[in-house]
Amino acid sequence: MNIEKSYAVELDQQDELISFRKEFYLEKDTIYFDGNSLGLLSKRAEQNVLSLLASWKEFAIDGWTEGEHPWYYLSEKLGKLSTPLVGADEDEVIVTGSTTTNLHQLAATFFHPEGKRTKILADELNFPSDIYAIKSQLELKGLDPEEHLVQVKSNNGNTLDTSDIVEAMTEDIALIILPSVLYRSGQLLDIPTLTKEAHKRGIKIGFDLCHSIGSIPHHLSDWDVDFAFWCTYKHLNGGPGSVGGLYVNKKHFGKKPGLAGWFSSAKDKQFDMEHTLSPASTAGAYQIGTPHVLSIAPLIGSLEMFKEAGINKIREKSLQLTAYLMELIKAELSTHGFTIANPEDETSRGGHVFLIHPEAARICKALKANGVIPDFRNPNGIRLAPVALYNTYEEVWEVVAKLKKIMEERSYKNYENKRGVIA
Ligand SMILES: *Cc1c(COP(=O)(O)O)cnc(C)c1O
Repeated sequence: MNIEKSYAVELDQQDELISFRKEFYLEKDTIYFDGNSLGLLSKRAEQNVLSLLASWKEFAIDGWTEGEHPWYYLSEKLGKLSTPLVGADEDEVIVTGSTTTNLHQLAATFFHPEGKRTKILADELNFPSDIYAIKSQLELKGLDPEEHLVQVKSNNGNTLDTSDIVEAMTEDIALIILPSVLYRSGQLLDIPTLTKEAHKRGIKIGFDLCHSIGSIPHHLSDWDVDFAFWCTYKHLNGGPGSVGGLYVNKKHFGKKPGLAGWFSSAKDKQFDMEHTLSPASTAGAYQIGTPHVLSIAPLIGSLEMFKEAGINKIREKSLQLTAYLMELIKAELSTHGFTIANPEDETSRGGHVFLIHPEAARICKALKANGVIPDFRNPNGIRLAPVALYNTYEEVWEVVAKLKKIMEERSYKNYENKRGVIA
């Protein structure tokens, strides 16, 4: 292990993606390692917001069908641009809604309790919003979540075992909803195996890709996943509240949307204004109402960049950045009480490193005061996400050097060990 800064500089010189860094707005003297919570603004995303505003100014109502990016077709167009990121066929992806609303839509569409099969299988480590949505979907069907929501337990509070999940796929399970990458520990679940095992037992399975999209390649069609959904403001850099996305396997095309609206319509039928819905024969059927066009605009620029960079190259660099970060932490911080709590092997780690430390809240505050933006996760977790498109190996080196100094000088003791409102 070479712990010299010159080695980091050397790695940056060999980096094929380095040219993308200058496309982003990076704050001077700040190292941003929080792209897994909110990705940074790129000049291309900004440009597309401005040109979308200009199209409103210029075309008014005709902007729906005229201009460079007619608004009426934008969700479909960006869905197509997203397909390489999730490994989907044409028409299997639509840019719409948010993570939580898309989950509601997909659960409403795919959860049909029948006979013995009345339960939804999830896990105890998932993001709260997913669990709230699943519970309300059960309640809407008159089912008590206490009995009908099964949450796979973690043995260590950080990760899940594939065998435990498979064991929980019993005959009373109607639907499985799991994250691709766990938001705290960054564990990447074995999506192909879980999908195969679910299907063997006649259970449909969907994944929340919030923490993997834009960071990890997926092959949803090849893996035969039934559905998936995600946000676009984390690794995809779509901006706060940018429009999310969903995938529906083409074998389910034609399935009636659980939550219908006029944007569920086939595009050429929508303005017939009939009271009987003619749903699109694509993933577009799972849209509900008018798309939030101004919140889609940044994605036009952002998804273009992902297309140019290529998701395989992004994953390769991301793995190298996190490997380098973990090696430096082990070499430099071994006496300071940190535990690396993310899985370390390449097949099961996502795009961030997860450190556990009893003083995590105040260590994060000290990092921020020293120009490093980490991400604190209650009660004792620090997420560090070096992002392939805009972070460097030198920044990884700097972060570890700053953290070492904070620990050696105990400067974190100057802060309260308590989280902020958003942490
Ligand atoms: C970020 C995230 C969400 C957020 O949901 P929104 O509807 O976009 O607010 C939900 N689930 C997971 C797993 C997430 O990582």
